[in-house]
Amino acid sequence: PLATLNDPSLLKTDGLIDGRWVAGSRRFDVLDPATGLKLADVANLGPADADAAIAAANAAWGPWKSRTAKERSIILRKWCELLLAHQDDLARIMTAEQGKPLAEAKGEVGYGASFVEWFAEEAKRINGETLPQFDNSRRLLVLRQSIGVCAAITPWNFPLAMITRKVAPALAAGCPVIIKPAELTPLTALAAAELALRAGIPAGVFNILCADGDNSIAIGKVLCASDVVRHISFTGSTEVGRILMAQSAPTVKKMSLELGGNAPFIVFADADIDSAVEGAFASKYRNAGQTCVCTNRFYVQEAVYDEFVQKFAAKVLTAKVGNGFDAGVNQGPLIEEAAVLKVQRHVADAIAKGGRVVTGGQRLPNLGSGQFFEPTVLADARPDMLCAREETFGPFAPIFKFKTEQEAIAAANDTEFGLASYFYSRDLGRIFRVGEALEYGMVGVNVGILATEHVPFGGVKQSGLGREGSHHGIDDYVEIKYLCLGDI
Ligand code: ADP
Repeated sequence: PLATLNDPSLLKTDGLIDGRWVAGSRRFDVLDPATGLKLADVANLGPADADAAIAAANAAWGPWKSRTAKERSIILRKWCELLLAHQDDLARIMTAEQGKPLAEAKGEVGYGASFVEWFAEEAKRINGETLPQFDNSRRLLVLRQSIGVCAAITPWNFPLAMITRKVAPALAAGCPVIIKPAELTPLTALAAAELALRAGIPAGVFNILCADGDNSIAIGKVLCASDVVRHISFTGSTEVGRILMAQSAPTVKKMSLELGGNAPFIVFADADIDSAVEGAFASKYRNAGQTCVCTNRFYVQEAVYDEFVQKFAAKVLTAKVGNGFDAGVNQGPLIEEAAVLKVQRHVADAIAKGGRVVTGGQRLPNLGSGQFFEPTVLADARPDMLCAREETFGPFAPIFKFKTEQEAIAAANDTEFGLASYFYSRDLGRIFRVGEALEYGMVGVNVGILATEHVPFGGVKQSGLGREGSHHGIDDYVEIKYLCLGDI
């Protein structure tokens, strides 16, 4: 699938340290999840390379933060333009290594680039403050200064956007970055790095350490242990987030964490059911259910339960599963065999505990790599099922029945996670009550998709720390300094 790129020089397979491509002494394979075939072998960098990247980034920090905000903004804008100019190639690389349908991949390139555009603009608005003096011989100032070398560890489900959402605010604030992309999807990251170089991001300011699973762990240790690295931003599982926090405790590092979710989607009896079905489908099956804001649990009020289940299942039956490059496909493969096994485990557990499969329920072994799973809807879900507690991260929609508003809120909040949540209602009072009561960083009301670059994305409870995107998205990359001037 990568033979037909318009610009074949975007297909990079080496890491990037201090402006130089680094082949490393070992390589690892990147596979196409739709076919199981090898796409490329990529540099398998390790701890010594991480040390080199940290040193390069540290050396580049002074000159980068000394540039004017406008200079950094212009370079970021150029990077954004290049990402968009190469949207088709980036999308092809993404679909090849990640599996999502080509149209979704193109959408992600636009979404990824939008963070670069947004933070190119925000670079010029990192304003300080002057405060009223507490005696007239003094003047009080607040500076917001770049935090220093930043590391970003990113997941495979959004191979571009999870990078730009961290890297763009860091660069805007004057910080150099070291990126450790997911081992399953390094090619999109490396193509974005090539475009970053073309945009004029200086050597050492933008470094990429590609590595396999074992070396990712080793690199993670080096990044966490380093005193030079002042900030770690991570998107991925709560389990790995906890490890990174623990490893960062000795250096008291600042952290931005975007971790797991267990998103509820509540349909009240007063909802527009057809609209709820559309929102439910978008929220559940985007990226084959492999996003941290995908609905994990549907709660439907008893009066509309049967209607919703029937209409939703009918909608789900229209989904076309297949290779993301094929026309009309709107659900690609799951990222790896382990992901299929997890969905199978959740489905089997739900059936064993009394759930009723309405549509789907099976993997599709005769399709490509066999990592394809039918979009599945299960009625009569119950709280003791695995899918009530764990993030399935796949195309499985369990539907629970509830009676009262309080019951729905309590069930929705009964989780250690708190990232995205959704509900459908047309009752204004209920919209405010439920919107305020849901313990989540993000609440979609009568919508199934809510992320965009100028809103604060992030979670509460064990779903993470900090917010990405919006004007708040720069906060984690600046330190506040209080300057007290006397003898005035
Ligand atoms: P997912 O659930 O998305 O597979 P993970 O949390 O396992 O997420 O991985 C997300 C990112 O974290 C990937 O880039 C992966 O290489 C990296 N990673 C996984 N384990 C560690 C670790 N112990 N230290 C540092 N990085 C890690």
